[in-house]
Amino acid sequence: MTYRLKNVFTAGILWCLSAICFAQQADIMLRGGRVIDPASHLDAVRNVVIANGKIIAVTEQDVDAKQVIDARGLVVSPGFIDMHAHGQSLLSGRVKALDGITTALELESGALPVDDFYAKAELQGRAINYGASVNWANARIAAFVQNLPEDSTEWFEASMGNIAWQSKPANKDQMNAILNSVQKGLDAGGLGVGFLLGYAPGTGFKEYYQVSRLAAKAGVPTFTHARYLSMTEPGSSFQAIAEIISVAASTGVHAHIVHLNSISLSDIPLISPMIKQAQQRGVALSTEAYPYGAGSTSVGAALFRGPRWREKVGGLSAHNFELNGKRLTEEQLSQLQNDAPGTEVVIHLLDTSQAAGQRHLDEAVLFDKGVIASDSMAWMRDGKSVEPTLWPLPGDAYSHPRSAGAFARFLRIYVRERQLVSLLQAIEKLSYGPARILEKSIPQMRNKGRIQVGADADIVLFNPATVSDKATFSKPAQTSVGFEYVLVNGVVLVKGGELNTNVKPGQPIRNPIKHSS
Ligand SMILES: [Zn+2]
Repeated sequence: MTYRLKNVFTAGILWCLSAICFAQQADIMLRGGRVIDPASHLDAVRNVVIANGKIIAVTEQDVDAKQVIDARGLVVSPGFIDMHAHGQSLLSGRVKALDGITTALELESGALPVDDFYAKAELQGRAINYGASVNWANARIAAFVQNLPEDSTEWFEASMGNIAWQSKPANKDQMNAILNSVQKGLDAGGLGVGFLLGYAPGTGFKEYYQVSRLAAKAGVPTFTHARYLSMTEPGSSFQAIAEIISVAASTGVHAHIVHLNSISLSDIPLISPMIKQAQQRGVALSTEAYPYGAGSTSVGAALFRGPRWREKVGGLSAHNFELNGKRLTEEQLSQLQNDAPGTEVVIHLLDTSQAAGQRHLDEAVLFDKGVIASDSMAWMRDGKSVEPTLWPLPGDAYSHPRSAGAFARFLRIYVRERQLVSLLQAIEKLSYGPARILEKSIPQMRNKGRIQVGADADIVLFNPATVSDKATFSKPAQTSVGFEYVLVNGVVLVKGGELNTNVKPGQPIRNPIKHSS
């Protein structure tokens, strides 16, 4: 029997385990790459074989395939999963694909109506997988302004000037309206409850508890932006995270604490052990961080209003605020806060040029079993969202650089330059970790974050020696480099570092729909 036939037969044996494979030629073989699969601790040279959007073999054997991709010298990793992606559009997803991301989820803000989010995405098409939780803030705004929620950034930003929903506990009718809206969103397949609590710090503690209890009953997580951003008490970030922990402990809900870095700042040495010890005592908690000392949000957000807000956030001045790559003056800051409170600005919170600032960022980014999540924003130009079907990304588009480079930056700085984590540990934080957090409540995620037989063929091939972010604060509209191939559901979206605009292989990540919202 010739060598080749023997091989096919040997591979055949592998395939015989699932009859279908035996009968057909594989679609793609990724040949000779360094396969890293944190779930199985595999880190070795293997061929990865794909058919019908699924991985059907991880083998040392050569297998007959319609397309063979030479992966020698490249890392073959499960596609990265971003649990914190705002401004979802065809454009933002394409930019993310070049940062190694194959699934981007809008979990912190969420969406409401949930149907509108998925319908819009389906109509426009998506390059990468997408999904959303239920937007509690929209439910609250709607209850306070007595209007139906609209699933758009513009609707949310327009409500920034309205203080009522941000500063008052809900009355009985408003409470019922909020609970009903959230329940409808969950019934429509929302992936959990997104809590922008920090944008409505006046929300009743009973409300946060009751809505979390609803999520616990539905068996889905909450994704919370903690109530306060402050290093001083009362009303500190520490206190706000203690609230999340106590509600998770009492309701049993899985509480995911978003952007640990930008909410903890210099109090991370106290906040980190508080979370860890609660986890060790069985409280269902998880968290995330992005590798930048600066954050981004609406200039008029509650975070930056009220007595002593500058002192609370570590002595900020207008110079810490940046718009379109330029630092603000005090005059510009107060004018923006009055005239355009919804304007997205960059805020330099942790000074990583100082040892203490870098140490605080590292502690959040390297939190044990914590994941990397970008907190990406929409791409803007002249105050308006960039046309979503436009490609390539216009050079003068503006957003926080994390929207283009958060994941490659983590690989560049924490793996290659500073060697603080291994490639396997890094891929756990970028891919397997998010899948592991979400798979308890989202069945689809059990097939993601892995290079294993049966997993979805969401795969990135990158060069560990060159992978890097390019986006900067002054010039953010620069996509990352080093991701030679990106496959989404078995479709080659990026080849030789170039994105293919003729394919939109992104699929919805959505829980079963009980009835539409
Ligand atoms: Zn946030």
